[in-house]
Amino acid sequence: MEYLSVSNAQKCILEAVNISEVETVRLEQSLGRVLAEDVRANRDLPPYDVSAMDGYAVRSADLAKVPAILAVIEDIKAGDMPTKIVQAGQCARIMTGAPVPQGTDAVIRVEDTQTSSGNNVQINVAVKPGNDIRMQGEGMRNGDVVLTAGTEITPGVTGILATVKCAQVQVYRRPRVAILSTGNELEDMDDPVDPNKIPNSNSYALMAQVQALGMEPALLGIARDDPAELTEYLQRGLKFDVLLVSGGTSVGVHDYVRPAIEALGVQMKFWRVAMKPGHPVAFGASAGTFVFGLPGNPVSSMVCFEQFVAPALRRMMGHARLYRRTIAARLTHNLKHQPGRTEFVRVTLAKEESGYAATSTGAQGSGMLLSMARADGLMVVPAESTGLVAGAQVVVQLLDGTAFQDGADFKE
Ligand code: AMP
Ligand code: MG
Repeated sequence: MEYLSVSNAQKCILEAVNISEVETVRLEQSLGRVLAEDVRANRDLPPYDVSAMDGYAVRSADLAKVPAILAVIEDIKAGDMPTKIVQAGQCARIMTGAPVPQGTDAVIRVEDTQTSSGNNVQINVAVKPGNDIRMQGEGMRNGDVVLTAGTEITPGVTGILATVKCAQVQVYRRPRVAILSTGNELEDMDDPVDPNKIPNSNSYALMAQVQALGMEPALLGIARDDPAELTEYLQRGLKFDVLLVSGGTSVGVHDYVRPAIEALGVQMKFWRVAMKPGHPVAFGASAGTFVFGLPGNPVSSMVCFEQFVAPALRRMMGHARLYRRTIAARLTHNLKHQPGRTEFVRVTLAKEESGYAATSTGAQGSGMLLSMARADGLMVVPAESTGLVAGAQVVVQLLDGTAFQDGADFKE
């Protein structure tokens, strides 16, 4: 079988996976989920014209000449309703969010006034009608669609859902994900340390990648390289929506994963992708489960998850944005590349005057997990590249944590 390109493999996966069904969750539990319904405003906000400032509600025509002295006829706090109509020469003291009284058409902030004798106030500035008034419905209008299906629930969206009193939210169900590692050489977390064994890091790194996307995966443990044992574990995994199998997908004589999966009725769509690290990556589907065969090498496993599993899981959760955000960066060093496979180089990013500088995290072997642990992003080297020189413009996929930086970056 031919090696698929990364983008063709992604296409193949996304053609196969569907958005999950809809479920109802409490607003408190909905962060990171995707709305499965349009949401409408259930009232005008603000419900009437209100003050945007603490100050005085005035008739702007009274302030043709300033300073002007006005009689304060009422004190209106947020939550109060005005009881009087403001006539020429009068005003009302008003707090932010309180309804502006009839007769007035502007608000003067308290900083532009001075207390005067008796119940009077001196207004020092003239205003245009509408000044510092929030108009009825300017935030949202009763009946308008304020959020559309497909919107990711971010904290701002949560605020809107609370505003329209959406205590129960319709969202797409999260896929149930299982993770299985394979290999006789593996030692699991609770096993005693054996210097001849390899610690099972993939189950946990994959777990964290799934968790970072907002799902809680099931860890099925380690299956030995034995067809019968593998089959037993795979059967367990095929009860989930998505099964991630680590290791055993290449062409070694003890790589039983592919035949064992196929024997269980999983139809393999591909098992080789022209990428580095990670070419023995497989994808297949059975009646109810999508199966990803990920390479055992720890970096390959994580990079393949990023390119193939993450977009699939996000599609199933209802997201429209499936891929990691990319940025342009300046490569700080030369980089060798043999044409043929798309390469994902682990890089750190440093902010500089005109953008970002990208630097390799060091030794890039597919077993060098520290190269991934230290990375801010994955730099994409196109398959046909014959190498890059220092200063080249490159594309970097941002990894978790890169939405944050050391210092706030603005002048004031
Ligand atoms: P495989 O894909 O099974 O041929 O494994 C390739 C390499 O990845 C071998 O060196 C394995 O020891 C290593 N490996 C496989 N599975 C894991 C795992 N769960 N955790 C860490 N390393 C692994
Ligand atoms: Mg193996």
